[in-house]
Amino acid sequence: MINEKMQKAINDQINAEFWSAYLYLAMSVDAESKSFKGLANWFYVQFLEEQDHARIFQNYMNSVGAKVVLQPLAEVPSEWRSPVEMFKDTLSHERKVTGMIVKLVELAIEEKDYATLSRLQWFIDEQVEEEDSALFHLTEFERAGRDFCVIHRLDEEMGGREYAKASALE
Ligand code: MG
Repeated sequence: MINEKMQKAINDQINAEFWSAYLYLAMSVDAESKSFKGLANWFYVQFLEEQDHARIFQNYMNSVGAKVVLQPLAEVPSEWRSPVEMFKDTLSHERKVTGMIVKLVELAIEEKDYATLSRLQWFIDEQVEEEDSALFHLTEFERAGRDFCVIHRLDEEMGGREYAKASALE
């Protein structure tokens, strides 16, 4: 069993993961509307992955007999000026999420909740990957500048990304 404080914090995190999903869906829709098919695919996969993150927390809450409470989702932006702007927002958002996961770790340590601490380890590792990937794509699109051929090639490459279920759900 996990205490009330921890349950509330995890429910807030579930909401944050769904908000992330919503943000990436908005980016996917915006990219699609501007004929960036590959980029639209990449962010759609990101949208699916964020739902996995929420699911991992939901499963964990259920397995320790805690109550999952789904909260309303705040509005997300609907338009970005360029792929560079999308990845700037992605990177700063993922850095924010990393900070939230770190806060959960600190709370778990404070509350001597070692089961939650163990579950959070997966998210710590995941955030390293998320930040790395956002920074990589941001750098690539920044380097491409206004070179349409390079932008087109990057967009094509991103169309190859396939969704794979999170390891913590297997
Ligand atoms: Mg996430």
